[in-house]
Amino acid sequence: MLLRLRMTSPYFSQNRTVVTRRCKQIDTSTAAVSLLSGLRKRRNVNAVKIEEEEARVCLSTPDGSQDLFQLATVLPKLETDVPPSSSHGRRRRQIKKQLGFIRDMRSNRDAPVDHMGAEKSYDAEAPANVRRFQVLVSLMLSSQTKDQVTAAAMQRLRAHGCTAEKLLSTDDDTLGKLIYPVGFWRNKVKFLKLTAAMLVKDFGGDIPDSVEGLVRLPGVGPKMAHLAMDIAWDQVSGIGVDTHVHRISNRLGWLRKATKNPEKTRKALEEWLPRELWSEINWLLVGFGQQVCLPTNPLCSVCLNQHSCPSAHQNSPAKRAKAQTSSSPALRTNKNTVVKDETRSGELGHVNSTTQRRTAR
Ligand code: SF4
Repeated sequence: MLLRLRMTSPYFSQNRTVVTRRCKQIDTSTAAVSLLSGLRKRRNVNAVKIEEEEARVCLSTPDGSQDLFQLATVLPKLETDVPPSSSHGRRRRQIKKQLGFIRDMRSNRDAPVDHMGAEKSYDAEAPANVRRFQVLVSLMLSSQTKDQVTAAAMQRLRAHGCTAEKLLSTDDDTLGKLIYPVGFWRNKVKFLKLTAAMLVKDFGGDIPDSVEGLVRLPGVGPKMAHLAMDIAWDQVSGIGVDTHVHRISNRLGWLRKATKNPEKTRKALEEWLPRELWSEINWLLVGFGQQVCLPTNPLCSVCLNQHSCPSAHQNSPAKRAKAQTSSSPALRTNKNTVVKDETRSGELGHVNSTTQRRTAR
């Protein structure tokens, strides 16, 4: 049974809990303290005494706990000795606010990734090594493929028998029919067979427990490896940056410089995003990208970040909404605009219903 989760921003609001993609809750004040401890170990205490004090002042909240997001944004300053400036402060506050708004928009947890992602595609009753193998298979199938198509293929594979040994003994034609129409299904048949053979030979049918081991498997790249470590092994090794995370991070201007590919985006994000958020950021942005910040024609008119996003309305035909004074501007989005967007895309239903519910309060 999944925990009932508080999905408003732990940093933007007074909620002190981070929710991971595996629905685990982390006490951010504890995490902040451990980060500060790490900082003390790395640097001479005297040398950073003043800076730590400054960080503590920044991190203090009215309830006496510490704000991890602020800590994370202070850390780079401490590491590089860059003097604080008002523009840095503004930027930090803006990113914090944008992250909080995305959490608000994702609070219904009703994007395809929420009920058809890799963490939902394995047989929960199967032995642990089989569950891990199925997570990896699901991730391999999901590349360039909609979650609905991946989930259906996984259902067929599980009915057939989805273990490394079983896939290895399945002929290519049968395997192709089972996974069709996932993207690049012919290549994926080859990769699945080669991967299954390696796993049977070297890992007893289980999957490697390191990124280095995972990326050696045919068809497995860094994104899949980090996600597999997180979902299958419950270890956060890096941010799983797919096309949604890559696109949205760039649209929102979260990176120092625009990046050309997901791997560069991963490295740039990991420079400043607190490790405690690495797991959450993937499912947060993937769902946001599936529902609001669409690859083409993003629904900027209903996006809570439309007034701070540098890319707002650049790819959307809807006119930019007038600046509003409400703390939640998109909750007061012009109804006519919402209807227009809904007509254009059938994916807006949840956003519209959320908007109506909130407006009705
Ligand atoms: S304003 Fe538009 S481009 Fe910017 S994050 Fe929102 S949906 Fe994406």
